[in-house]
Amino acid sequence: SIEISQVGKHFGDFVALDDVSVGIPAGRLTALLGPSGGGKSTLLRIVAGLERADTGRVEIDGVDATNLPPQKRNVGFVFQHYAAFKHLTVRRNVAFGLEIRKRSKDEITRRVDELLALVHLGQFAERLPSQLSGGQRQRMALARALAVEPTVLLLDEPFGALDAKVRKELRDWLRRLHDEVHVTTVFVTHDQEEALEVADEIVVINEGRVEQIGSPDDLYDRPANEFVMRFLGPVT
Ligand code: ATP
Ligand code: MG
Repeated sequence: SIEISQVGKHFGDFVALDDVSVGIPAGRLTALLGPSGGGKSTLLRIVAGLERADTGRVEIDGVDATNLPPQKRNVGFVFQHYAAFKHLTVRRNVAFGLEIRKRSKDEITRRVDELLALVHLGQFAERLPSQLSGGQRQRMALARALAVEPTVLLLDEPFGALDAKVRKELRDWLRRLHDEVHVTTVFVTHDQEEALEVADEIVVINEGRVEQIGSPDDLYDRPANEFVMRFLGPVT
C-alpha cells in the first residue's frame, strides 16, 4: 500500500503540489490522470524517492518512507524515456538489479527467464535493446523494474511514445500482468480512455491538487466537480 499524506512541493514560487493526500491499497492498479503540468510526474517521483517533498509524508507498506532513498523503498519504476544499457543484452538489462544485489548466478538465470516469459520476450533475450521495437523495449523496462520483486511498481506514461495500436496492446497486457502478479501499481497517464479502461481506481490531479479519487464508474457517473466532468467527458 501507499499512503501519501498532505504532500506539498514547490519549485521557486511555483506550487507544483498543494496538500496532496492519496491512499492506495495494496494490490490495486491505480492511474494518476490529469492534464499536462498538473503534477503527476512530480508526485510519482516523490513516491519513488527521486524527489523530496517540502511537506507531508509518504508511507510505503506501512513504513515511513519520506526520507528513504529510492533503493530502500522496495519500488520498481519505469519512466517514459527509459534508459536501457545499450551495450547490454535484454537478459543482462533485466538481470542488472539482481546482479548489483549479488544474487547467485542460478537464481538470476531462473528469475530472468521467468520475467522474460512473463513479458513475452523469451526469444529476444540475447538481443540488444536497439534491436527491439518500442513496445518490446517498454516491456523489457517493466521486466527490469519487476526483477527485484518490488511491492510497488510506478510507471510514468510508460506507453506514451508509442503508436495507438501498440499502446492498446500494452495496456491490455499491463492489465493481464497486474492480474497475475498483483503488485501495487501506479501509472501516470493524461489519456482518459487509457485510465478508464485499465485502472481499478483513478486519481485525478490538476494544478497540483487532487480533484477526485474513485473507480472509473464513480468518476464517469458521479464527477465531483466541473473539472472532472469536462476532463472525462466525451472527446468531440
Ligand atoms: P505532463 O503530463 O506534461 O508530464 P505532469 O502532470 O507530469 O505533466 P509535472 O512534471 O509533475 O507535471 O510538473 C508539474 C509542474 O511543476 C509543471 O508546471 C512543471 O513545469 C513544474 N516542474 C516540474 N519539475 C520542475 C523543476 N525541476 N523545476 C521547476 N519546475 C518544475
Ligand atoms: Mg509527467
